[in-house]
Amino acid sequence: QPGPSGTLAAEGVTRHFAGVKALSDVHLEVPAGRITGLIGPNGAGKSTLVNILSGYDRPDEGRVLLGGVDRTRERSYRRTRRGVARTFQHGHIFKEQTILENVQLGALGVGRSSRAARREAIEILDRFDLLEHAGESAAHLPHGVERRLGVARALATRPTHLLLDEPAAGLNDGEMELFKSAIRSVVDDLDVGVLLIDHNMRLIFGACDHIHVLAAGANVVDGPPETVRADPRLAESYLGS
Ligand code: ADP
Ligand code: MG
Repeated sequence: QPGPSGTLAAEGVTRHFAGVKALSDVHLEVPAGRITGLIGPNGAGKSTLVNILSGYDRPDEGRVLLGGVDRTRERSYRRTRRGVARTFQHGHIFKEQTILENVQLGALGVGRSSRAARREAIEILDRFDLLEHAGESAAHLPHGVERRLGVARALATRPTHLLLDEPAAGLNDGEMELFKSAIRSVVDDLDVGVLLIDHNMRLIFGACDHIHVLAAGANVVDGPPETVRADPRLAESYLGS
């Protein structure tokens, strides 16, 4: 079992928005070198939890721990420098730049020199089978390329933890396989701890080492894929939503 030093964790996190209980006393751990899945119906609170883990939002109660240290109130840009990277549910691609430049910007954003950023970007594009597209404009990318680019750019910050909010939405089967093996190589080679949110159960149950189910802002069940798949609370959490 990985120790707390390599773990990003939410501990008893509660977040309310004007009467909406988005999260109530939620616990979740993202250990290094593992893919942790987060699933649940729309409105379950998944994106809110990612916002809190990455410093884009703060909980009303509870804590965010990185390597056992309380980082709850630390802003997102500082948390990115500490190793917590994320993608957004919708895009955030710089359309007027090339694919290579988009990934370089990720590395420049955490203070790399332009040479180091370029080297890093090329290495990551290669990993995501995007090197042949490096010089192309990011304006009109095929959907599968755009999704992989979003993840590649987050990785250019050399994160210890990578939070992926529905990164594979709309991918076809072939693109899904490419995506899955790219994520797996990142986790295995770079020891990154990944949090993967997606509605594609084949991806989640095929890729994740551990899965959390969230519904109506609360933990429902978590465990290894085979345990969660066999748990009746998995299906129940999707009923009536
Ligand atoms: P999920 O990502 O699982 O679909 P979200 O975290 O986006 O769920 O949303 C959880 C709940 O919190 C929803 O009811 C949503 O409408 C509400 N919510 C999220 N963000 C805000 C906000 N900034 N203001 C008000 N309500 C919000
Ligand atoms: Mg969401």
